[in-house]
This record gives sequence, C-alpha cells and structure tokens, in this order.
Amino acid sequence: MKRKDEVLHLLEEYDIKPSYQRMQVLEYLMYDDTHPTAEIIFTNIHAKSPMISKATVYNTLNLFVKKGLISTMMSDKLEVRYDIVTEEHGHFVCKKCGRVYNFKHRYKNNYSELDGFYIENEEIILKGICKECKNNC
Ligand SMILES: [Zn+2]
Ligand SMILES: [Zn+2]
Repeated sequence: MKRKDEVLHLLEEYDIKPSYQRMQVLEYLMYDDTHPTAEIIFTNIHAKSPMISKATVYNTLNLFVKKGLISTMMSDKLEVRYDIVTEEHGHFVCKKCGRVYNFKHRYKNNYSELDGFYIENEEIILKGICKECKNNC
C-alpha cells in the first residue's frame, strides 16, 4: 500500500475526517518513531508546509489521541510525546541521546495494595544507554 493510501485508510478506520493537515500529521508520526513532542512534529511539518499553524498541529494531535489512533507518554522533562503505537508496550529511554524505544512486554502484575482501584494504563519505563550510544562510546 502506498503511504498516502495507508494514511487515508487509518483515518477512516478511526472515524476521522481526512483533511490535508491531518494527513500530514499522521504521515509524520508514521515515519518518526522516536516519540516526538508536538513542538518537534510542528517544526518538521512547518519546514515543508509553512502554511500549517501550531494550533492545527496541536488540535490534530489531541483529536488523534481522543480517537485512539495514537498514544502519548511523558518524557523525563514532563513533555508529552506522541506515539503511533497504541497497543500496550514498554518504553526504553536512552539517557544519552534521549531517544525512546518501544518494546513488547507481557507484564501483568497483581497490585494487591490497589485492590478495588481501576487501573487505566500501566506504564513501563526503563532507562539506560541504548545500544547505539553504547557502541559509540
Ligand atoms: Zn542512545
Ligand atoms: Zn511507544
């Protein structure tokens, strides 16, 4: 499938009306898997399409999150980062390059202290030095 078709298909699947800007934002997220912030997403799209406004990018990201098309995570600096992967997964944060890697986990814990609580999501964040940075040492 061509990327543009893929983008359209995804928007349709999540019941989001396709617009040129929405397609640009989604396309960017499909290509950048480093969990970019809204600021980074905006800067990169804006470089190619100077007509797009910051508000449009932010609103689009919020809509995607609300519809369940993308997920978010908090970085060390408490910035929201966006992720095209929505199924449950863990994050590895590299302390050197700041990149955030996805990994699958089968972590199902029993939190007996939280009996009766409703747990909405479980975030697993591992920190360290990624392979690439380690090899470049
Ligand atoms: Zn690294
Ligand atoms: Zn992720």
